[in-house]
Amino acid sequence: MFVDRAARIVFLGPPGGGKGTHARRLSEKYGISHISTGDILRARAGDGTDLGTRVQSFIEKGKLVPDALMIEMISERMAQGDVQRGFILDGFPRTMEQAKALDQILAERGTPLTLVIDFEVSEDVIINRLSGRRVCPKCGANYHIRNIPPRRDGVCDRCPTALIQRADDREATVRTRLEVYRAETAPLVGYYRDRHLLQAVDGNLEVAPLEKHLWSHIEAV
Ligand code: AMP
Repeated sequence: MFVDRAARIVFLGPPGGGKGTHARRLSEKYGISHISTGDILRARAGDGTDLGTRVQSFIEKGKLVPDALMIEMISERMAQGDVQRGFILDGFPRTMEQAKALDQILAERGTPLTLVIDFEVSEDVIINRLSGRRVCPKCGANYHIRNIPPRRDGVCDRCPTALIQRADDREATVRTRLEVYRAETAPLVGYYRDRHLLQAVDGNLEVAPLEKHLWSHIEAV
């Protein structure tokens, strides 16, 4: 008999909560796909098309890209072969409409979510993490000027590219992103709790101890 043991996980939590860092690490260690809608959108934002320019303007303002576009994007991604081995969704869903659409897409494939992790993080930690975050514009690796510094100052460890600060990590935009999170995304905590999928973790923790907690939740499913 076929036993489906793939982990299909959503990482929920505010910007700066550690979703991307941990999704990347866990996906590399355990061979499950990391699907970051922010990364997919950033790749489109720079492609010179009208759609790319529109996407870029939403991102730079800290606003959400419209649901219809996001749902189409995730539906295409879920049709790719690698997701059968499991996935971590980082940054999707962000609205109730997206959450319902995701349930439907996965139900049609007979592969429902197995776990939702809620990263609970204080606002001070968020501001500190985002203001110190630096990213590699080429490979997407994330660093923090104090917490996760690159080996060589200002240069990516993996591909020797100069690190940058994301435009939407500047303070005014961070405030908008937090407001959007509270209004649109935070209600999903209740949605997934009602479906008995939710586990909360303390997102204020440093990378190593938080990774241990995360892994224990993933293994327990
Ligand atoms: P992130 O890298 O997850 O912080 O996403 C960066 C930006 O991409 C967000 O501030 C939004 O503008 C956009 N974005 C990413 N995921 C979504 C989503 N699921 N729905 C709408 N907008 C999104």
